[in-house]
Amino acid sequence: MKKFSVLLVALMGIPMLYSQTDIRIYDIINNVSAERIEKDVTTLVNFGTRHTLSDTISQTRGIGAARRWIKSEFDKISSECSDCLEVFYQKNLVPKGDNARIVHDVWVVNVVAVQKGTKYPNRYIIMSGDIDSRVSDPANFTSDSPGANDNASGMAGTIEAARVLSKYKFESSIIYVGLSGEEQGLYGGKGLAEYAKAQGWDIVGILNNDMIGNITGVDGVVSNRDFRIFSEPVPPTETEQQRNARRFYGGEVDGISRQLARYVYTTTKTYMPEMNPMMVYRLDRFGRGGHHRPFNDAGFAGIRIMEAHENYTQQHQDIRVEDGIAYGDKLEHVNFGYAKKLTAVNAINLASIAWAPPAPTTVEIGGIVEPNAKLRWNKVDGAVGYKIYWRDTTSPTWDNARYVGNVTEFVLEGIVLDNYFFGVASVGKDGHESPVVFPNKVFR
Ligand SMILES: [Zn+2]
Repeated sequence: MKKFSVLLVALMGIPMLYSQTDIRIYDIINNVSAERIEKDVTTLVNFGTRHTLSDTISQTRGIGAARRWIKSEFDKISSECSDCLEVFYQKNLVPKGDNARIVHDVWVVNVVAVQKGTKYPNRYIIMSGDIDSRVSDPANFTSDSPGANDNASGMAGTIEAARVLSKYKFESSIIYVGLSGEEQGLYGGKGLAEYAKAQGWDIVGILNNDMIGNITGVDGVVSNRDFRIFSEPVPPTETEQQRNARRFYGGEVDGISRQLARYVYTTTKTYMPEMNPMMVYRLDRFGRGGHHRPFNDAGFAGIRIMEAHENYTQQHQDIRVEDGIAYGDKLEHVNFGYAKKLTAVNAINLASIAWAPPAPTTVEIGGIVEPNAKLRWNKVDGAVGYKIYWRDTTSPTWDNARYVGNVTEFVLEGIVLDNYFFGVASVGKDGHESPVVFPNKVFR
C-alpha cells in the first residue's frame, strides 16, 4: 500500500503527461461491420428508386419507404442504448419550378439522429450521407435508380457509425443524418443548415460522406486504401476586412474547413496508418457539388469524404449496356470492406472530436521583428492543456507540435514568425484534441 502511494505521488509529480492514443478508438475501428453495411446498402437499393420526387406512399418503393426505414433503423439503435438517440424528421417544402429539377412540389425530408453530449450538449459534430438517388435525367423520378454507391454507401456508413458509437458516451453531441434532395440541388443540406442556425447549434463541422464504396476507378486504378478529403480554403462568409488581413498575416489555406480536413487526416494517420488520405485543396470535385457546401455557405466547417477513384459509368446513369459497357450504380460495384474503412475513418473522428474539449475561440499571435513567435488564447473549460502547432508555409499538414500544458500564452523561442504558419488546439484529459485554430488576432 505504502509502495503504491509512493508510486502514485511519483506519477502525480509528472506534470502534463497525457496519452497520445486512446485504445477505445481501435475498438471503434474493429466494431464497424462490412456485413451490416452490405445489408443496409442492399435494403436501400431494394427500394427501387430513392429519387427525391419519387413515391412517398408505397411501403416498398420510393423515397418515402426509404426514409421511414432509415428512421426505424435509428429508432432501433436508440432502443438498444436506452434511448440515447433523439430521432426526428427535419423537412422543407420546395415548390415546383424552384429549379429545373423540381418538377413538382416536394417535401425534402432529412432523417436526423442526435446523440446528446454529456458536457457540451449544444456542441455538434455531424456525419451525413444522402438518402436520394438519380439516373441520367435528374428529373426522372420513376425509373429504377439503385444509387448503390451514390449514395447508399454514405447513408449505410452513417447508420453503421451510429450503431458503433451509440455504445459510448461523449462530452459533445454527435448527429447522424440522412440528407435528401442532394441530386436536385443540395436542398436537404440547406434545410438542415438553416435549421441548425435557427436552433443556435454550435457546429464543429460536418463530415459529408458521398460515395464511399468504389475502389475501381475509371482511370484503371484500383485501391482500397486511398480516399479523398475535400475542403474549401476559406469560408465564403468571410468579411472584406478578413480577406484584406490575409494579405498581411496569412491564412489563404487555413480556413475552418481546411482545419477539419487536417484533423481527419491526422486522426486517420494516427489510428489507421494503412490508409492513404488525400487532402484535396478544393471545395469539391471540379465543378461538382455535395452536401457539405450548404453548411459552408452558412459559415460552418464542412468537408467531403469520398473514394479516391471514381467510376463515372456507375454514377447518375440509366441502367443499360452500351458499346459493351454496363452502365448504372448497381450493388455489385460496391466494395463493402472499403466502405467499412471509410465508415471507421468517420467514426474515429466523430469520437475524437466529441471526446475533446472545444477549441479556443480566440488565438492571438505576436512576435513581429523578434526572434520568437508568441501565442496566446482564451482558456477553454474542460481542457487540461493546449498544443501549439506550426508548419512550413508550403506544407499541407501541421508537422510540428509542442504540448505546452495548462497555460494561455506561450513563447516559442528561436522560431521566427515569418517562416511558418501557427495554430493552437485544446487537449482533453484523454488526450483528444480539438481542431487546430489559426490565429484570428495579432498583438504587438
Ligand atoms: Zn450523385
